[in-house]
Amino acid sequence: HSRHFLNRLATSTIHSRCFAGTLVLAEQVDNGKLAPVTLNTLTAASQLKQDVDCVIFGSEKTNETANELQKFNNLNIKRIFVAENAAFKNLLSESVTPALLDLQKKNNYTHILGGSSTFTKSILPRLAALLDVQPISDITKVIDKDQFMRLIYAGNAILKLKSNDPIKILTVRGTAFEAAKPATGSGEVKVEKLDSSVKNDLSEFVTRQVQQSERPELPSARIIFSGGRALKSKENFKLLYDLADLFPGQATVGASRAAVDAGYCPNDLQIGQTGKIVAPELYIAIGISGAIQHIAGMKDSKVIVAINKDGDAPIFSIADYGLTGDLFKILPELTEKLKKK
Ligand code: FAD
Repeated sequence: HSRHFLNRLATSTIHSRCFAGTLVLAEQVDNGKLAPVTLNTLTAASQLKQDVDCVIFGSEKTNETANELQKFNNLNIKRIFVAENAAFKNLLSESVTPALLDLQKKNNYTHILGGSSTFTKSILPRLAALLDVQPISDITKVIDKDQFMRLIYAGNAILKLKSNDPIKILTVRGTAFEAAKPATGSGEVKVEKLDSSVKNDLSEFVTRQVQQSERPELPSARIIFSGGRALKSKENFKLLYDLADLFPGQATVGASRAAVDAGYCPNDLQIGQTGKIVAPELYIAIGISGAIQHIAGMKDSKVIVAINKDGDAPIFSIADYGLTGDLFKILPELTEKLKKK
């Protein structure tokens, strides 16, 4: 009897150790589209060089999101799970986390990845706690299956870390990985419906206030006109909106924390360590000194332009182009010149 018991124990230990594969928590945005950061996450997932499953949670249009994901069949994606339920509206973490945990228990993934976003920041640490592993946030590089890079001290140092946890739960810094490109050839990725019965008596979605704007979201804008304390007032921020509106669909406005704290603009425009991380093709820092906490959020921009009246301002040390002068003279001139183009 005891030998039989030990055999069973050994088999169950082997089973529970039999981890395999990566799971990507794909993020759906309101219109049923994939959040752009999911494409960067797919690139990071493909660097782990093992099979990838994806899961999409939502209250509607999850099949449309899955169709979009199917185009990436060049990236080792084997299955796409869709879980649709009214309780996943607005992706409440209390609804999504138990469903994600069930999926993990069924498939024993070694790696679970999501893009760094408010969605994953709320869900993946909960999942990690329930699995009793250490979440690893905001990775900028995959070295191998156990080792990753991430920034620390507001981006002033790069940490190489090795995780011995059997399950790695990772969020991916979108700007550090290229967006995955859809496959050119054809191929099939299986889409499976997940049992999406939801156990959530802790919270319910009530309402959401969204800032309506014709301008693109900060992380997806190609050009960002970013203003600092030197703008001096909410009214003066209009100078930046006027500039951004000369590039419809491409440009938007960002800000330093000092500008946000002073009430010159809404706080969802804040860029930096405690704001958004952006990497547009063109970042124009206007009246921003270049504190490390601000630089942490924009230093990966392709071209950086600084406008500042202090020629020694630290922002010039990372700028590709610098204009030393008074922004209140430079901006109206720039706007006029661009209007003529
Ligand atoms: P200032 O540092 O006051 O710079 C204003 C600049 O405007 C100066 O360089 C000045 O020469 C120039 N200027 C003035 N008048 C003119 C003019 N007429 N024309 C042209 N130039 C002019 N900051 C962030 O931005 N994002 C963050 O996420 C963030 N997180 C933080 C987290 C922590 C924990 C801490 C401690 C701080 C954080 N900060 C953050 C704040 C950060 O340290 C700076 O205080 C802030 O970035 C300064 O904003 P600023 O450059 O607009 O203002």
